[in-house]
Amino acid sequence: MTQSPQGLTEFHWLIEVLQTVDVGILVLDLEYRITAWNGFMENNSGINSTQALDQSLFTVFPEVSQEWFKHKADTVVQLRNRAFTTWEQRPFVFKFRHNRPITGVTEFMYQNCTFIPVISTSGEVENLAVIVYDVTDIATGKIELNLVNQRLAQLSRTDGLTQLYNRAYWETLFSSEYMRLQRQEAEVCLIMLDIDHFKRVNDTYGHQAGDDVIRAVSKAIRDNSRTTDIAGRYGGEEFALLLLDSDAQNSYQFAERLRKKIAALQVATEAGILQVTVSLGVARWLPQFQHHGQWIEAADRGLYRSKDQGRNQTSIEAG
Ligand code: GH3
Ligand code: MG
Ligand code: MG
Repeated sequence: MTQSPQGLTEFHWLIEVLQTVDVGILVLDLEYRITAWNGFMENNSGINSTQALDQSLFTVFPEVSQEWFKHKADTVVQLRNRAFTTWEQRPFVFKFRHNRPITGVTEFMYQNCTFIPVISTSGEVENLAVIVYDVTDIATGKIELNLVNQRLAQLSRTDGLTQLYNRAYWETLFSSEYMRLQRQEAEVCLIMLDIDHFKRVNDTYGHQAGDDVIRAVSKAIRDNSRTTDIAGRYGGEEFALLLLDSDAQNSYQFAERLRKKIAALQVATEAGILQVTVSLGVARWLPQFQHHGQWIEAADRGLYRSKDQGRNQTSIEAG
């Protein structure tokens, strides 16, 4: 056997491998004209090699930013060094639709790309190869995992029945606000709110109806607070609200508005329409508090005064 037929055979199967390999291979000359285009590129773009060869990359892929691509390619050619892009920096370089039955996360194929300087027999860099890896499975897996983690973090902060912050998370925010006030004084008020005679609701109409009432009261709290207010479910049917930048007078007015709104609610339950009232205690932050527990005690004293004086009212606790 002579050298050349064997060389030809090797060349043939090399081309065959390049054609069928499951990564995109694209070779460009220094004017960004396509000089090689494999089966992966053909199948995913729908453009065959006769249409692609000798065309400018930017004609075939108008969505590729010329400025970005040229900068990347020129650096590779000049430094004779490989360069990479990952899907995390840039979801894709070439806009191919993916062919998986995934919905929601993306329509397009996520890609990692490697840019390789191709050195000719004369020692010059005359071409640039771009290898395109389809990383859609890895990317969507990671994105979905992040979404689940965000959801978990959210779940661990909020109370399932009311969508308000749960007590542990509310207390974290409360104590950090308390610490901030040690450094920088401000008008901040704490409101404690408790549903009146709630045991009767449970005893008369059942626990399910009781839950509906808790949900309705929580919704009223959410709907009437500002985004800067920090509202949490402090206990079973007891709520804590921190009003930032709000003095005692404003906070009292807010508490009274909320009290009236809640008293006017018509809560639809399986046991019929129910109405409830709430009692509230307001305490502003005072520099003489020794620890944040004293602030809660002050608001609690206001709340119990409201209960003692007949419920369905708001009391301000001076200190
Ligand atoms: P008061 O006016 O003095 O507050 O009287 P009250 O009956 O509301 O007394 P209290 O605040 O101590 O009542 C708490 C009741 O709330 C006791 C408990 O059974 C009920 N409760 C606590 N958490 C839940 C819950 O998630 N769902 C329901 N349905 N009931 C709850
Ligand atoms: Mg109660
Ligand atoms: Mg209670």
